[in-house]
Amino acid sequence: MNGVKVHITGVVQGVGFRPFVYNLATDLNLKGWVKNTSAGVVIEADGDRDALDSFLQKLRDDAPPLSRIDDFTASFGPGNGFTQFDIIHSESVDGAFQPISPDVSICDNCLRELFDPNDRRYRYPFINCTNCGPRFTIIQDIPYDRPFTTMAGFKLCPDCEREYKDPTNRRFHAQPVACPVCGPRVWLEQNAEVRMQNDEAIAETCKMLAEGKIVAVKGLGGFHLACDATNANAVTELRTRKLRVDKPFALMMPDLEIIEEHCFVSEAEKELLTSSARPIVLLKKKPNSTIVEEVSPRQDWLGVMLPYTPLHHLLFTNSLFTVLVMTSGNLSEEPIAIDNDEARDRLTKLADAFLMHNRDIHIRCDDSVVRVFEDNYQSKIVNRKSIYPIRRSRGYSPFPVKLPFDVPQLLATGSELKNTFCITNGKCAFLSHHIGDMENYETLKSFEQGVEHFERLFRVKPEAIAYDMHPNYLATRYALEHAERENLPMIAVQHHHAHVAACMAEHGLIEPVIGVSFDGTGYGDDGAIWGGEFLVADAKSYQRAAQLEYFPLPGGDAAIKKPARTALALLWSLGLEWDERLTSVLEFCAEDQVTLRVQLEKRINTPMTSSMGRLFDAVSALAGVRQKVNYEGQAAIEFEAMADSAEAGMYVFGVEAGRVRVRSAVEALIKDVMAGIPTSKISARFHNGLAEAVRETVTKISRDTSLRSVVLSGGVWQNITLLRKTISLLSKDGFEIYTHREVPTNDGGLSLGQAYIAASRLRG
Ligand SMILES: [Zn+2]
Ligand SMILES: [Zn+2]
Repeated sequence: MNGVKVHITGVVQGVGFRPFVYNLATDLNLKGWVKNTSAGVVIEADGDRDALDSFLQKLRDDAPPLSRIDDFTASFGPGNGFTQFDIIHSESVDGAFQPISPDVSICDNCLRELFDPNDRRYRYPFINCTNCGPRFTIIQDIPYDRPFTTMAGFKLCPDCEREYKDPTNRRFHAQPVACPVCGPRVWLEQNAEVRMQNDEAIAETCKMLAEGKIVAVKGLGGFHLACDATNANAVTELRTRKLRVDKPFALMMPDLEIIEEHCFVSEAEKELLTSSARPIVLLKKKPNSTIVEEVSPRQDWLGVMLPYTPLHHLLFTNSLFTVLVMTSGNLSEEPIAIDNDEARDRLTKLADAFLMHNRDIHIRCDDSVVRVFEDNYQSKIVNRKSIYPIRRSRGYSPFPVKLPFDVPQLLATGSELKNTFCITNGKCAFLSHHIGDMENYETLKSFEQGVEHFERLFRVKPEAIAYDMHPNYLATRYALEHAERENLPMIAVQHHHAHVAACMAEHGLIEPVIGVSFDGTGYGDDGAIWGGEFLVADAKSYQRAAQLEYFPLPGGDAAIKKPARTALALLWSLGLEWDERLTSVLEFCAEDQVTLRVQLEKRINTPMTSSMGRLFDAVSALAGVRQKVNYEGQAAIEFEAMADSAEAGMYVFGVEAGRVRVRSAVEALIKDVMAGIPTSKISARFHNGLAEAVRETVTKISRDTSLRSVVLSGGVWQNITLLRKTISLLSKDGFEIYTHREVPTNDGGLSLGQAYIAASRLRG
């Protein structure tokens, strides 16, 4: 009799791994045990050598679909004389940690049961199994076991307990297992009164939605505000109540067929839509779609997801509507509401009713947003995956990003907008779920709770804190206070270096690269606002090899909200006149023009910027597309949406040593505007010219440094038109191009870069 001891780490808890081991061992007639520990899954088994070999092989080859094995060690020895195979008690190992599974959308088996009238969970909104259901949002601590989740208060009924304890059942050790007898329930609440429960509540919710009402629906990671997306009044009312002028709303549709009625959907997009993460996928809208313009004003794409909880599926089992707006349950930029009382408190003015339930959400987690970035270039682009994340949250977080070397335990606090934080342990970088814009107390509180939660879950006590150099970021202030209190080393990281490093970390790059960081706002070494940067960087340090030439940003934030201001400032700094034939100029009366001119001349509250985001704002305004914005990036997004992909002409930038000059391009653009050239051509010519300027600048830097790897990172690279053209040019020249595939190219990915830089510096 031989024995083997196996230790497996990775995502192996909450994904049906122990039942899988149990069944495999029993099939092979092995004796012994398997257990979860906070350091991974541990197995001891006795059996014939052949059976043990086959066991080890199958553990790796046939592991459950949601699991991910990082490390696998096995050591043989004499048998222990076990008499049966058991799943034994979980164990917490001091200081050890394990990745935790993200939440998983309902599986096909559960979906079948949900709509089977003979099943005891027929139409039960909380049906789940070892292959699906909530994970991250209900876990309070590790190891992942029911007492450490928000299901702890629900005592299993005899039927559920039988399934839970039966190794042949697919609910064997499914921690959130529940049924109508013993589990959570839903109800409809209006004016603080419970109106209806269970199926009746769902039917009434559907009726209200069909009548154009707005209902707050409690989901997996927080509340959604739902309304019928084909009802213009309902959507407009939702905008008014939410104080959201025209930032697009996300949509939920019941199946791919309905999605294809409204959007163009490629195979890669279908794959993402139906993946177990069930993200919001950005899709091109079809011209004949009945979804009202108010959902996504002046944009040619829609953010669409499929139902991912049983409750969502139940909402669509009626013939009253087929497309719902499902936007996060919050006012403007506050964090999404998760707690029932919190929702009653914060959403009462926003929703006509609440579809609530009593399964608590331990940590908030917004929907993720991704898009497909096709990779059909005839070229040498390194990013072969077609996913391009925009917001990485539910379904992906807290999956770690694998780093190329072991790093100390660190906390990186991220950026101001689209904040995420990152903590590291071993080779794992745990990038948090989406925290949001750190501009109010609620978001800061959510950030602090998130950091505490991650530190506990992944057993991290930071040895140093990395943060953005911007002195006024709330995340930076938190870092400084925290570091001082705990007496920790502080590592300041330049914003655009962090962007480049985030992309390097994803790809395991250590050697220097040419980093093209095009972005909205980031604090520079010289106190100016950077954002059009060409860095020669490794994971420790960088040199600014070239930049977009500086131009003034009169009033700072005031200019960001009003691109027309940036446009006039740009013209002024280039020595071009404020011609009244330009819409941007007409935005200012004569008096205001004088004031603006004085402000520029005297440099009153006028920082200098090399921001590519602000250049896009300015040209969007000059082209007559948008003079004021209601959300960050709006001018650039609408300008991009107009670009005519067939147009080959371009505005030529001045590429000099260390500078990209814009005068010639802006002059040509204005000439076209005056000549009445269609905006679609103007937009395309600007994008074409800028991509060419990137190619020329990168080529110069490459000649000086012999570097051939180019990293594209920063918020402006969400502009797919620019990304596509730039990659096409650079790859023709044989550069190796790296883009994001795991974390967002915008500030949502920044904390990963901060952590990677801090780790590299501490490593020496
Ligand atoms: Zn299931
Ligand atoms: Zn039950």
